[in-house]
Amino acid sequence: MERVVAKDYVFHRDFSKQYPVITHAEGVYLYDEHGKRYLDASSGAIAANLGHGVTEIAEAMAEQAKKAGFVHTLRFETKVLHELAAEIGKMAPPSLNRVYFTSGGSEANESAMKLARQYHRDRGKPEKHVVIGRWQGYHGNTLGSLSAGGDSKRRKPYTATLAKFEHIHSPYCHRCPYKRSEEICQREKLLPCAEELERLIKEIGPESISSFICEPIVGSQQGAVVPPDGYLQRVREICDQNDIVFIVDEVMTGFGRTGTDFASEQFGIQPDIITFGKGVSAGYAPLAGMIVSDRIVDSLIENGDGHFIHGYTFSGHPVSVAAGLAAVRYYQRENVLSNCREQSVYLFQRLSELQQKHSSMGQIRGKGLLIGFELLMDRSQDRMFPPSFGAAERLNQEAIKRGATFYPGSGTIDGTNGDHLLIGPPLTITRDEIDELIAILDQALTAFE
Ligand code: PLP
Repeated sequence: MERVVAKDYVFHRDFSKQYPVITHAEGVYLYDEHGKRYLDASSGAIAANLGHGVTEIAEAMAEQAKKAGFVHTLRFETKVLHELAAEIGKMAPPSLNRVYFTSGGSEANESAMKLARQYHRDRGKPEKHVVIGRWQGYHGNTLGSLSAGGDSKRRKPYTATLAKFEHIHSPYCHRCPYKRSEEICQREKLLPCAEELERLIKEIGPESISSFICEPIVGSQQGAVVPPDGYLQRVREICDQNDIVFIVDEVMTGFGRTGTDFASEQFGIQPDIITFGKGVSAGYAPLAGMIVSDRIVDSLIENGDGHFIHGYTFSGHPVSVAAGLAAVRYYQRENVLSNCREQSVYLFQRLSELQQKHSSMGQIRGKGLLIGFELLMDRSQDRMFPPSFGAAERLNQEAIKRGATFYPGSGTIDGTNGDHLLIGPPLTITRDEIDELIAILDQALTAFE
């Protein structure tokens, strides 16, 4: 049979695009084959938390690959697997100590939702199967994780194939769907956005609900929207009262991104399962997973048949885990989180100065070095761009031309969110590099407006 010669053997996400070919990367910068430099203001997809070219991580990976490049965790273990799990267990809230590894965040969330289901089944509650997520959440692109999230653009082509999960709205005090203000909610000690969860649970019946999943700070779908005080604590209470497993997706917020190891710590909550990814290996290898509470693991051991009926070929891949262990040691030794907190204050300050100059910059929000701003047609009239215009992507293209890349998020089809730009540089970024980031963003906004 005659071979059809492809124009390009790579199956790109966007068939119409040719992307710059990166030949090397160092610190916060990527360099393409023509020598052009890009400031990586989004750490790739909020993953390269330690910047590029950290040789000790590369060396740890090479060393492990030489020792034992692959063993299957169904039959064997490695020392690095245990060492990394112990480090992660120590970083997590006190009641979460048991770590299960996957290759990516979507797989981690699939695993968490399945584990919650198995937990109920093994305790003699097989009817508890429904997952509740949020319309403004994103938990990954596999069918289960996509079903848990609410991204209308990503879901639309697959609606018929998605699992029948339930959803509530995420809090967004700046555009409160209940037309309340944060002050009123705090004064009345009543958060309708949290009570919506209780209402839905009553409607469906708690006896059929398995888990609730949410991001502590909404990343890609809303651009770093922080929930009001007390929201996550109230959700924790509601889950407890209804015997629902509370899964907090820290794939984006974990590993120092918001200034603490996990964002859950800042909100004073202990979820039943935390999922993680991205920053765990600082992007050096595909690695993610979940940290499960002792209560759930003990119950599985006591009530189940001794297995988590699940598993991936590459769970706990030795080279990925070695990258994770080297990354975690680097975070600790170099005080990366304290740099993140310090530079966060400076970046917020520089962004509010920039906002004075640009009418397209709406609300600025976030925590640590996960910061977003709304992109508006005109702030004084609070007008959003139509979703089909792709405003945030256009702004990012202007930035790329000028040597920086951000993480744009476009408006949703149903209009519940507008455009935003997410800024998440490596947590090792310096003040001078932030100045450069702001200068390029300034030029890009001018060209865009
Ligand atoms: N959860 C959150 C909060 C994410 O931001 C992402 C990715 O952007 C995922 C899950 C999915 O992770 P992955 O792309 O590694 O499958």
